[in-house]
Amino acid sequence: MTKDRKWRCEFCLVVSVESKLLRAPNPFDADDELIGCPSCKSVEGFIELCEIEGCLNGATCGGPGSDGVYRRTCGDHADWLRKAVA
Ligand SMILES: [Zn+2]
Ligand SMILES: [Zn+2]
Repeated sequence: MTKDRKWRCEFCLVVSVESKLLRAPNPFDADDELIGCPSCKSVEGFIELCEIEGCLNGATCGGPGSDGVYRRTCGDHADWLRKAVA
């Protein structure tokens, strides 16, 4: 099961779930695809958000929690993740 990650557009700051992002084949690289913001139509300017509910910090850390599910979190929540494991 793939989790619907949240991404924040760097240009208009709107947060979109991954399934709502615009996708198109990259005309310069057949193996790649371009990701676009559904709100302002900017391309390739996304920050992955911390997976902790309600947190709007960018995800800079990650690790498996007590349930074994890998999560991406911000620095603030990295400790929370480690505590959840212990
Ligand atoms: Zn945008
Ligand atoms: Zn966080």
